[in-house]
Amino acid sequence: MRANLIAGEWVEGAATVADVNPSDLSDVVEEFAVADEAQVDAAIEAATAAAPGWAATSPAERFAVLERVGLELETRATELGEQLSREEGKPKGEGVGEVLRASQLFKFFAGEALRVPGEHLRSVRPGVDVDIVREPLGVVGVITPWNFPIAIPAWKIAPALAYGCTVVFKPAEMVPASAWSLVEICARAGLPDGVLNLVIGPGRVVGERMLNDPRVRGVSFTGSQATGARVAQALAARFAKAQLEMGGKNPLVVLDDADLEIAVDCAAQGAFFQTGQRCTASSRLIASAGIHDRFVEELVERMRSLRVGHALADDTDVGPVVSADQLEQDLDYLTVGRGEGAELVHGGARLERETEGYFLEPALFVGTSNEMRVNREEIFGPIATVIRATDPDEALVLANDTEFGLSAGVCTTSLAHAARFRDGLQAGIVTVNLPTAGVDFHVPFGGTKASSSGSREQGRYAVEFFTTVKTAYVRP
Ligand code: NAD
Repeated sequence: MRANLIAGEWVEGAATVADVNPSDLSDVVEEFAVADEAQVDAAIEAATAAAPGWAATSPAERFAVLERVGLELETRATELGEQLSREEGKPKGEGVGEVLRASQLFKFFAGEALRVPGEHLRSVRPGVDVDIVREPLGVVGVITPWNFPIAIPAWKIAPALAYGCTVVFKPAEMVPASAWSLVEICARAGLPDGVLNLVIGPGRVVGERMLNDPRVRGVSFTGSQATGARVAQALAARFAKAQLEMGGKNPLVVLDDADLEIAVDCAAQGAFFQTGQRCTASSRLIASAGIHDRFVEELVERMRSLRVGHALADDTDVGPVVSADQLEQDLDYLTVGRGEGAELVHGGARLERETEGYFLEPALFVGTSNEMRVNREEIFGPIATVIRATDPDEALVLANDTEFGLSAGVCTTSLAHAARFRDGLQAGIVTVNLPTAGVDFHVPFGGTKASSSGSREQGRYAVEFFTTVKTAYVRP
């Protein structure tokens, strides 16, 4: 049994939660302690007590701690990547890749700790100087989803620590092993007690407690829209800061002049890799009339070659769906799509493998209209739809006709179309001849419309959320 970290102590809880392998339901990765409300309060108390000390540490000290974390993550990438794949179900290459991404994030923010931005100006009043400095926000809550069990915690915790905040971290209760390992590495890397606290448990208990505590000055949240709305309301009511990254219904537009091989590759990767369980997944494939049939034919061919299986098997392209609930939701959307008149041209079968797991064959609907529920609601599984567009104009309108705005892509060999879609797509991330999913670690990440709220995550833009600005007028 692995415990929670509160004020530098590993503490057990009254209950435990089992971390079950979705590729093999007989395999329990580990049992984890579940924090109760009193323990969340104690974690917030510890983070509050540690805040002034951590804010006062030198940039060099923060750099050293974060760099140590980054280096250990890199050294242990294979072991931790396999643990991640075991608990979440993405193929082990992607699990290892995600741990390496977490390592890069810690190293990047180690550097950022050394160059916290500020400004010095002359006042409009003679003899007065103006200093604009960034100060740590204080205690922040970090609430994360299950689909990137180590990268998302890393891209929130690393900047929080770099900019001098203390943290109460609540990971998704379905994937606590990666979160626990990350916190354990941070604790050994030299963080003072209370600077980073781990409280595993259900959102409605552990998460809610953090939302409502006035000592928590901001919450960085990634998850579903419904929970995001709840987080936003609770924080707005007490004037605390919220950073929300939520769902997507990301379009990938394939124009007549696209390189077909690139387009099929982008669609297959973007829609089905990581079992389609990515907020940036290409779930709406919009193909213009001249390429539509060839694109569908080639994509189905490619889908036939995808091997669905145990996340730790060497030849697996697509792992299992994460849980029974998520599988049920995916199967429901297959029924909904058929009921709306969409044609299922490939996949959608529940698959049996040597071990009992939540294996689902990647599925493709064609003949869909943008009004169908399968094109309006986030499915979050290995299911994509194709919408036929008459021309690039209609394709752009269809792409933007959604409440979401996280990521959007276009496949084209025309520079003019590429520029037009780059400018015209309403999304925080736009890709040209690349999948809508798969981003760099040193540049901002986030969406527009109902996908995101608050300032951007990652890159130098992360400073915005984790700091407040002080304007000092000084007459020497
Ligand atoms: P979720 O909203 O169910 O849970 C996210 C986190 O919020 C979990 O830790 C959960 O325990 C917690 N939570 C639940 N209720 C809460 C409450 N009342 N108060 C406080 N915390 C609460 O989301 P999920 O199912 O874990 O993740 C899938 C969703 O995440 C999808 O919608 C996906 O698009 C989104 N996602 C977005 C991004 C992005 O960067 N935009 C990245 C990954 C995933």
